[in-house]
Amino acid sequence: MSEQLIFLNGKFVKKQEAVVSVYDHGFLYGDGVFEGIRAYSGNVFRLDEHLTRLYDSAKSIMLTIPYTKEEMTAIVVETLRQNHLQDGYIRLVVSRGVGDLGLSPFSCEMPTVIAIAEPLRIFPKELYETGLEIVTVATRRNRSDVLSPMVKSLNYLNNILVKIEANLAGVPEALMLNDQGYVAEGSADNIFIVKNNKLLTPPGHVGALVGITRNAILDLAREKGYEVAEAVFTRHDVYTADEVFLTGTAAEVIAVKKVDGRVIGEGKPGPVTQDLLDSFRELTQNDGVKIYDQTLNVS
Ligand code: PMP
Repeated sequence: MSEQLIFLNGKFVKKQEAVVSVYDHGFLYGDGVFEGIRAYSGNVFRLDEHLTRLYDSAKSIMLTIPYTKEEMTAIVVETLRQNHLQDGYIRLVVSRGVGDLGLSPFSCEMPTVIAIAEPLRIFPKELYETGLEIVTVATRRNRSDVLSPMVKSLNYLNNILVKIEANLAGVPEALMLNDQGYVAEGSADNIFIVKNNKLLTPPGHVGALVGITRNAILDLAREKGYEVAEAVFTRHDVYTADEVFLTGTAAEVIAVKKVDGRVIGEGKPGPVTQDLLDSFRELTQNDGVKIYDQTLNVS
């Protein structure tokens, strides 16, 4: 990759110069919102949905993004172009901006807006062939009536604690339950179980982010004639499922072969998971905002 350029408050700057103030409330308090987006072969996948989620998250925390959605589309596309990327991961961050040391966001005059585009680092390829092993962790999902999982905020401590527990247990990802003990999601991905060709995933109110990959999989599965439902379920349902898989922008669709020591199905990616991964990859090649087909101005 030639020199990486980062979009920072209206300008493209070199990576070493892409720095923000220690008084930025994103840094001081995790006050802000973000998105993780992906481009495939020159198409940005479901950009509109990612931006809708970003703007909804911002609205929920009373943060006004200083760009329209059209301008933000241009920022994402231009960040990819500046870095000569056709395939890659884009991180958009909007923090409350620089203020004083108090908690109040009203001291912050201007949000900080960042777009970073990089080649993607995902789970190693072998894991897509073998499947992942995961464990349930003690850390519970934030209650959705306290801090809604729909707000994709910079406050990811809940998820970080999950990741720490997973890594200490020697596995790359974990299963997180909600405060009532029902299955919620992974640290940064949604979970699906498959039983008798029927797919189930927890509804958002259980404590899952309504993932864009999750929604794409629900649509694809329906189109392919699988029965699908959003449902509340327990670890018992996970242990006794025929297949389990995780979905996310970075992970795409990845099979889970073992949960808390219980082998899932035959202990390898099952046919439904593989079928949906293949269809998902096909979809990503042909669906999205084209990076190189339009002239866009970023100011
Ligand atoms: N849950 C959490 C907590 C996440 O951070 C993510 C990643 N954005 C997901 C689920 C998957 O969502 P998506 O498919 O939109 O990437």
